[in-house]
Amino acid sequence: MILNEICGKRQLEFMKQFTYIREAGTEGELKAALAIQEELRSFGVESRQEEFEFDTWKILEAEFTVTEPFVKTYKVAGYGRCGSTPESGIEAPFLYAENGDAINLSFAKGKIVMVNNPMNGDMYQKLVAAGAVAFVTLTGTPIDEGDDTLLYTRAVPKMEATPIQGVVLHHKDAMEIVDGGATRARLTLKSELGKATSRNVIARIEGTEIPEEVLTLTAHFDTVPQGPGAYDNMAACAIIMELCRYFKAHNPRRSMEFVWFGAEEKGLLGSRNYTEVHKDELKNHQFNMNVDLAGQLVGGTVIGVTGDPAICHMIEYMAHEIGIGMVTRNAIWGSDSNTFAWNGVPAMTLNRDGFGMHTRHDIVDYISPWSLERSAKLLGKIAESLGNIAVMPFPRAIPEQFMKELDKYFNR
Ligand SMILES: [Zn+2]
Repeated sequence: MILNEICGKRQLEFMKQFTYIREAGTEGELKAALAIQEELRSFGVESRQEEFEFDTWKILEAEFTVTEPFVKTYKVAGYGRCGSTPESGIEAPFLYAENGDAINLSFAKGKIVMVNNPMNGDMYQKLVAAGAVAFVTLTGTPIDEGDDTLLYTRAVPKMEATPIQGVVLHHKDAMEIVDGGATRARLTLKSELGKATSRNVIARIEGTEIPEEVLTLTAHFDTVPQGPGAYDNMAACAIIMELCRYFKAHNPRRSMEFVWFGAEEKGLLGSRNYTEVHKDELKNHQFNMNVDLAGQLVGGTVIGVTGDPAICHMIEYMAHEIGIGMVTRNAIWGSDSNTFAWNGVPAMTLNRDGFGMHTRHDIVDYISPWSLERSAKLLGKIAESLGNIAVMPFPRAIPEQFMKELDKYFNR
């Protein structure tokens, strides 16, 4: 690999245009897809968009009022995908159940129950089983001020039955509610389901000698609604863009497909659509190299490998060769690489720890060209080796244990 052809400054320049929120299904996401295609065109790579529809939700009304021993209405945001309360809301005794442990939940029957963490499937089922009639969750920290106290709608995971509804409120208000000894409350939620459209951007560099074998380099370009996602995940988009530019100039022997995924934040929907649409070609896919969370200066690099442990040793050897510090972890990984692994394609996610993910503070100001360059060199080294090696050096199989964990992950 000609390491000095990889340029961190160029990656940062590319990133600087994405200062807007790119939530899946919105104008921002579409605008970003077009900008990615424009950048590819600037160095002679044609790309295509693959659109897909996904289920979404809308909150029409969300209200939460403590009614005893004092009366106060709090700012809340609603939970989607769990239906609506009766029009006049649900009024019931109120319980703060902390992390929803068994002792606290033994007092939940017939109550509106507040728990600390965002609602997941497990907690939802526990609350229903305990007889809760509605739920409240918290967000934020006690030191938030101004825009940091803004609330955003969220949704419960897709489940067969959603008998109870809920809202999210801010940490500071939760403190006031518990401190004030709230014993009774009223919760109203009105929501509806709908559809939205997201898209993947796909560019292919055809292999010169073994074009039928495919390696993918992937990164999601959508964001959560809270912030413009520089670290999560436009930095990764810039890294694979830089490598696409490199491999356009230095054709590998195997084919490389570069994919910028939409709707990752909605549950890996872009990669799930990609693996469905290209199901027949997946048997030719040898390895997925995904990047999620990248570009900040202070941090450390971890490569999560979902595949044979031999892949970890191989990647570590390559990192030693070029002297770039990192560690590997042989595990499933909460990003688009999981989708490939679940479909039988060994996969990795390059990940750098950092600050501000899923907040309005995730901005390009904290992105470092030094970090972008290092990560692009490391990933480029791996991609170039595998793109040109005579025979793939690890089995194209996912260890049984990971398949079990992935089944659980995707059916959660
Ligand atoms: Zn991400």
